[in-house]
Amino acid sequence: MIRIGHGMDVHRLVEGRDLILCGVKVPHEKGLLGHSDADVATHALMDALLGAAALGDIGKLFPDTDDRYCGADSLMLLAEVMRRIRELNLTPVNVDVTIVAQRPKLRPYIDTMREKLAECLRLPLDCVSVKATTTEHLGFEGEEKGISAHAVCLLTTL
Ligand code: MG
Repeated sequence: MIRIGHGMDVHRLVEGRDLILCGVKVPHEKGLLGHSDADVATHALMDALLGAAALGDIGKLFPDTDDRYCGADSLMLLAEVMRRIRELNLTPVNVDVTIVAQRPKLRPYIDTMREKLAECLRLPLDCVSVKATTTEHLGFEGEEKGISAHAVCLLTTL
């Protein structure tokens, strides 16, 4: 059996925060605001995985009212999502993440992002895609007010 999942997320860009995307700290004058490390790309991916498994969403699993997740490393949360998916005898086939950001240029960090996700997902690198796009200065991403991310995944039964 194959199951498809989709996730998306948005976080606001603010001064005085680190910019963490797929577990990689990207040098930038602003970072994403959120209860956890606000890793918008990993959040979208977690929602895709949870969606494929019909396990709800990250807001349900890791409520932002819970102090345990304050400043949380989103890759640790992803590891917990993976634990729950494996409990259902499901495993990912491949994932594809798209980050929508006007700036900074993400290309130099994409391969490290893929490696971090692949390790967490226990997938070969060629089954983990991370892409970045701008919006030609249109919308909140284009105006650099925030960054959004979309993710899709396939799960299969073990
Ligand atoms: Mg989020």
